[in-house]
Amino acid sequence: MDRDQFDAPRYVRVMRHPGLWEELLECQQCMGQGVCEIEYGRPDYRTGSGYIDTRSGECPACDGQGYVEPPEDIDDE
Ligand SMILES: [Zn+2]
Repeated sequence: MDRDQFDAPRYVRVMRHPGLWEELLECQQCMGQGVCEIEYGRPDYRTGSGYIDTRSGECPACDGQGYVEPPEDIDDE
């Protein structure tokens, strides 16, 4: 399997409700892993400066689920 097609949307099949499979868009930020590198600030209180570091953490784009909800049709009328 090659995972190099970054521009091609991929779908994952998930069962969020018993017996109901749904095809949802794979999260592009974490490539469906639910975990990605997150930037966070590390203030240095001694010098008053700081820097941006990264750590591995729950993907903020998909809440660690590895897939994203399809855009809902806005139909409030
Ligand atoms: Zn994600």
